[in-house]
Amino acid sequence: MTPRSPEQALAELRAGNLRFVTGVPQHPNQDAGHRAAVADGQHPFAVIVGCSDSRLAAEIIFDRGLGDLFVVRTAGHTAGPEVLGSVEYAVTVLGTPLVVVLGHDSCGAVQAAREGVRTGAAPAGHLGAVVDAVSPSLLRAARQGIEDLDGIVDVHIAQTVETLLARSGVLAERVAAGRCAVVGMSYRLSGGEVRTVAQVPAPLPAPSAPADADAALAS
Ligand SMILES: [Zn+2]
Repeated sequence: MTPRSPEQALAELRAGNLRFVTGVPQHPNQDAGHRAAVADGQHPFAVIVGCSDSRLAAEIIFDRGLGDLFVVRTAGHTAGPEVLGSVEYAVTVLGTPLVVVLGHDSCGAVQAAREGVRTGAAPAGHLGAVVDAVSPSLLRAARQGIEDLDGIVDVHIAQTVETLLARSGVLAERVAAGRCAVVGMSYRLSGGEVRTVAQVPAPLPAPSAPADADAALAS
């Protein structure tokens, strides 16, 4: 059964990550029968706004399959217009009840931004856009006296959660209505586990939150 509340969706992700971490993945919804079943429509229960890092494959680390996760990945999980539009599509058209910002330790994009801030040198080509998008988190971390890379990553994850809500009125409305939640998680490359860094709202709406009428109509 597809989770329809933020709380149920988060529980499903946590359960899948635990299976992955402990080495007992079920690889659900990856068989030919399910592939055929979802060909006519999708009802993903979570949006993952994750870093593009090759070690952060969403369906693997949450032990999910086809049709489960709506995944948007950029280096450093940035929140530019196309990312925001993709999130809004999932939340409004598909009725997805949970948005997860997924960062990780030793993030290369955060490292590049830190280097850019430190040296004042602009990276070549479009990499500069990534550095520009991550840099505000660097400054925020500096104001908080946070200097270690993984501490900065946590700040950047929380900043991305806030940025999504600040830039997307549609998402903020859904969250205010209890129909969606935004959770920031940090993934540990060596251990494979995720840790919650930020959550809006906290606590999550109860499972009895109003059903998402749009979801039933989406195809
Ligand atoms: Zn990264």
